[in-house]
Amino acid sequence: MFKNLIGGEWVAGASASRNVNPSDTSDVVGEYAQADAAQTRQAIAAARQAFAGWSLSTPQQRFDILDAAGTEILARRAELGDLLAREEGKTLPEAIGEVQRAGNIFKFFAGEALRPGGEALPSVRPGVGVELTREPLGVVGIITPWNFPIAIPAWKIAPALAYGNCVVIKPAELVPASVWSLCEILSRCGLPQGVLNLVMGRGSEVGATLLEDRGVDAITFTGSVATGQKVAQACVARMAKFQLEMGGKNPMIVLDDADLGVAINCAVQSGFFSTGQRCTASSRVIVTEGIHDRFVAGVVERLKALKVDDARKAGTDIGPVVDATQLKQDLAYVAIAQGEGARLAFGGEAIEHNLDGRAGFYMRPALITEAAPQMRISREEVFGPVVSVTRVRDYDEALAQANDTPFGLAAGIATTSLKHATHFKRHAQAGMVMVNVPTAGVDYHVPFGGRKGSSYGPREQGRYAAEFYTVVKTAYTQA
Ligand code: NAD
Repeated sequence: MFKNLIGGEWVAGASASRNVNPSDTSDVVGEYAQADAAQTRQAIAAARQAFAGWSLSTPQQRFDILDAAGTEILARRAELGDLLAREEGKTLPEAIGEVQRAGNIFKFFAGEALRPGGEALPSVRPGVGVELTREPLGVVGIITPWNFPIAIPAWKIAPALAYGNCVVIKPAELVPASVWSLCEILSRCGLPQGVLNLVMGRGSEVGATLLEDRGVDAITFTGSVATGQKVAQACVARMAKFQLEMGGKNPMIVLDDADLGVAINCAVQSGFFSTGQRCTASSRVIVTEGIHDRFVAGVVERLKALKVDDARKAGTDIGPVVDATQLKQDLAYVAIAQGEGARLAFGGEAIEHNLDGRAGFYMRPALITEAAPQMRISREEVFGPVVSVTRVRDYDEALAQANDTPFGLAAGIATTSLKHATHFKRHAQAGMVMVNVPTAGVDYHVPFGGRKGSSYGPREQGRYAAEFYTVVKTAYTQA
């Protein structure tokens, strides 16, 4: 049994939950402790107690801990990647890449601990000096989704600790193994007891307790819009700081002047890899008339060649969907799209067994064409290997459709026109814009986040993470 980490001790939960491999449902990754509300409150109390000391820790101490964690994560990337692929279902290369990213993030924020910045300014009053400094917030509650089991916990834990906060993290129910391993590594890197606490368990109990307990100063959340709204309401009710990263319905425009190979590659990579289970996936492609048919034919050719199989097997291009509920949702959207009058150009059916005959949550990637902008398939996040294509006259119509969405995380364009690329970068209503590169796949050292219904609060990652994880103090001194 894998236990919760509370106040520096590994403790059994109120109950336990089985972590099942979506590539082979007869394979149980492990039994993971499930905390209840009382145990969550103990973790919060432990974090509160540790804060006084940790908030005054030296930058060198924080650098050493985060750097050591990064080193171990990178050294163990193959083993941790295998665990991640086994519990979540992304392919082994994708999973190893995600672990690598987590290691890089710890190294980056180790450096940031040494560079807190600050400003000294003259006052408008004679003889007075003004200093601007950043201080930690206190206890940060971290709530994460299942689709990036180690990268998202890493990009929240690393800055929280780097800037002197204590942490209580609650990972998604479906994927506790990767974050458990991450916390186990950190627990051996010199963190004082209680600075980092792990409480695995249900959102409605462990997550809700983090939202309600006044011992938690700030909440950083990544997940669905519906849960994000609950987080916002609970935090506003008690004036806690919060940050939300939520869903997307990311557009990718393909113009007549695009390099066809680049356009097909961007669409297939960001629409279908990682089984389409990325908040930055290009789930709707908006294509001008002159290239539409060649583009669709090219994507279908590529999809025919992709191998859907066990996530950990060499040669697999697309692993399983994460669980039965998500698979049902993906298949339902394929049916909804067809019911609304769109055409299924490829795939869209469940595959009950992998190539070794093992039962898992597999699905053939679905390409839907003739999708109209008002159809549900063009407006709602599916979060699976399902991409819809809409035909438009020209760039102006494409841009209008791209922006006609309640979301605003990422937006892409495939074009060789500098004029259209430049215009799109300025006018796409999204937090991240990609020209001739897939919408999914972002760097770890620059800000990440969206607009409109996709995000709320300061950006994550890079130096901008300080906006959330610290509070500014303005000090006046008369010498
Ligand atoms: P989810 O909202 O169901 O769960 C996210 C987390 O919230 C889980 O840990 C869950 O246990 C917890 N939770 C659930 N109910 C809660 C409650 N009442 N109180 C507190 N916590 C609660 O999302 P998911 O299905 O795990 O993840 C998929 C979603 O995440 C998709 O919508 C996807 O777009 C989004 N996502 C966004 C980003 C981004 O950065 N924008 C990144 C990855 C995933």
